[in-house]
Amino acid sequence: MRGKPKCPVIAIEEHYWDTDITSNYAGVEAFRDPEMLKRLYDLGEYRIEHMDKAGVDMQVLSHGAPSLQKIGAGKAVDLARRANDRLAAACQKYPTRFAGFAALPTDNPTAAAAELERCVKTLGFKGAMIHGLSNGEFLDEPKFDPIWAMAEKLDVPIYLHPSVPHPSVTDVYYKKYMQDFPMVIRAAWGFTVETATIAIRMVLGGVFERHPKMKLILGHFGETLPFLVWRIDQALSRPGAKPMSFRKVFSNNFYVTTSGNFSNPALLCTMMEMGIDRILFAIDYPFVNNEDGMEWIPNMPLCDEDKIKLLSGNATRLLKL
Ligand code: MN
Repeated sequence: MRGKPKCPVIAIEEHYWDTDITSNYAGVEAFRDPEMLKRLYDLGEYRIEHMDKAGVDMQVLSHGAPSLQKIGAGKAVDLARRANDRLAAACQKYPTRFAGFAALPTDNPTAAAAELERCVKTLGFKGAMIHGLSNGEFLDEPKFDPIWAMAEKLDVPIYLHPSVPHPSVTDVYYKKYMQDFPMVIRAAWGFTVETATIAIRMVLGGVFERHPKMKLILGHFGETLPFLVWRIDQALSRPGAKPMSFRKVFSNNFYVTTSGNFSNPALLCTMMEMGIDRILFAIDYPFVNNEDGMEWIPNMPLCDEDKIKLLSGNATRLLKL
């Protein structure tokens, strides 16, 4: 149905930067133009002005990649508290416009679990976002189980967001083209492969067997997984493999968002594999313009009832907004 139904628009992969975190990453600002930096560092009126102009009612905010995932526990544990407190202050100032996903010091999984609990119970956060590998380690390692156990206990989702690939991967797979196409290791392709691989490894590693109620959100229409689930499922179950249903885990534990991938073919494929109830709206502001996401809404090939689920109903339910 063309048009936008009457319902709030909640976008759930919207980023900001905190200087206390970004000051740990040398050269991170050199890559971005001044307008982008202004948008990233703003958690107030400037951001709301951009939301109003485009028609975004609420942003669920998360720190941009790699957030705390490349900072060692010695520094990241206290830093997480400070950064999450500041995000909470912005959410408290604009409670109808902002909600928060926690940044977690994953290098110390026990402390990360405690911080998740504090953020949800005390600060009112809706879950957490983790950006790629934790200091080079895959998240299917059992050492990260305290984080999943806490997410399960609190009944909040974890958003698995991309980060740049492991340096060895970058070196072997992308080096030749990084100069001419700097985004090849990022949103154009590297992010997708990296994030899908981490998610697949979490399934293979039994994270969802140990934590059957853990809810994992993937951005960008599931980092290609909805398109590939039939093949992955079939190939993994060929003779010689440990018995396991990839599809079952994918259908039970995964949610996806539309961030930075406003494609009707991708939407239809994802809906056919997962159903509309598992697809949530996201833009990926400020890396993607609010207008690009909002202009797509009238052209989505969905009935109003499904559009309402995608734009806000599913987020309201999953994040308990
Ligand atoms: Mn993003």
